[in-house]
Amino acid sequence: MKPPIFEYHRPNSLQEALSLMEKLENSKVIAGGQSLMPMLNLRLTFPSNLIDLNSIEELSGISTSDDQVTINAMTRQREIEFSKIIRQRIPLMADGILNVGHRQTRNRGTIGGSLCHQDSVAELSLIALAHDAVLGIASLRGIREIGIAEFLPDSCPPLLKMVKY
Ligand SMILES: Cc1cc2nc3c(=O)[nH]c(=O)nc-3n(C[C@H](O)[C@H](O)[C@H](O)COP(=O)(O)OP(=O)(O)OC[C@H]3O[C@@H](n4cnc5c(N)ncnc54)[C@H](O)[C@@H]3O)c2cc1C
Repeated sequence: MKPPIFEYHRPNSLQEALSLMEKLENSKVIAGGQSLMPMLNLRLTFPSNLIDLNSIEELSGISTSDDQVTINAMTRQREIEFSKIIRQRIPLMADGILNVGHRQTRNRGTIGGSLCHQDSVAELSLIALAHDAVLGIASLRGIREIGIAEFLPDSCPPLLKMVKY
């Protein structure tokens, strides 16, 4: 199967992505594409505009403070797998990530894509729930924080920027 026809956009900054999301009708963001591409090919979703987050460097990376680990939404699952910070601070995630798909899917798949796909049995969602993670949702008005338990039953918000553990 081939995906339906859509306009493709590749912003270089979070601000540009948010502006596109506000301006474009029926848009969807794409991260690693490991869930969205099969859905497009099976014609389960019909976005008119696809906004690719892969050139936005500020959306990737893992950082720490004394009491928190922050994983930006576009951080690849494979980076999480090999992160010393994750191994030390969130061992459940370091072990659990090995059960997420395969090496090939983890090379592309992101933490943000997994959470926003909202599969109730996805390992990363359950690990986030176990740690009471806080999600940073970006809009042109700023970053709004919500708890993972509040986020998961709803439909995905416009743009997930980060997850704090
Ligand atoms: C063969 C195979 C096996 C798999 N096995 C497993 C498994 O065992 N366990 C598991 O949990 N998953 C599994 N997956 C899914 C995989 O982990 C995906 O990586 C994940 O579900 C989606 O991540 P992604 O970055 O590819 O997101 P995409 O496919 O690009 O996007 C998924 C959804 O999230 C939205 N989205 C993505 N990023 C953002 C963002 N920053 N803000 C707002 N919305 C966003 C997209 O619009 C889309 O609706 C498997 C996939 C494949 C192909």
